[in-house]
Amino acid sequence: MLTDGVFIALGSNVGDRERYISQAIDFLAAEVGIMVLKQSRSIETEPVGPIEQGLFLNAVIEISTALSPKDLLAKCLAIEERLGRIRTERWGPRTIDLDIVLFGNEVIDEAYLTIPHRELLNRNFVLAPLAEIAPEARHPLLGVTASEMLIGQT
Ligand code: AMP
Repeated sequence: MLTDGVFIALGSNVGDRERYISQAIDFLAAEVGIMVLKQSRSIETEPVGPIEQGLFLNAVIEISTALSPKDLLAKCLAIEERLGRIRTERWGPRTIDLDIVLFGNEVIDEAYLTIPHRELLNRNFVLAPLAEIAPEARHPLLGVTASEMLIGQT
């Protein structure tokens, strides 16, 4: 079974940020069971949290996938590892961060996976690129679209 309306947020604030983002997208596209359908522009954003660090580049992609949410998360974590993310500080710098933002209409609330992403409504840097490529994508719990979430945030 294929699930449509699956969105992944990408962020990088170390080294060649654009390259990390495009490599992560290439790695995802190379996986069996993942088709990359759309890619937003990358936007430059201020880091969130207490640690002083470089500006982020953020983007969102839309995929269609045969994977379960759990398997997709495992692929994302493996790609983060492969691109050398060093998990030292919670809010610290990262070569690449991959977050599953929406997974069709699925709602998941597990310790290791929350979908829709817990911070979606608070993150302009995810909502703006999401609304760019999928203004009508809906939050399955709130029923509001990406455009409406973005307006609510700004
Ligand atoms: P962080 O790197 O701080 O974004 O946290 C990564 C961890 O968040 C992962 O190991 C996941 O288990 C967990 N997580 C919970 N919900 C999600 C989600 N929707 N997408 C990606 N990771 C998630």
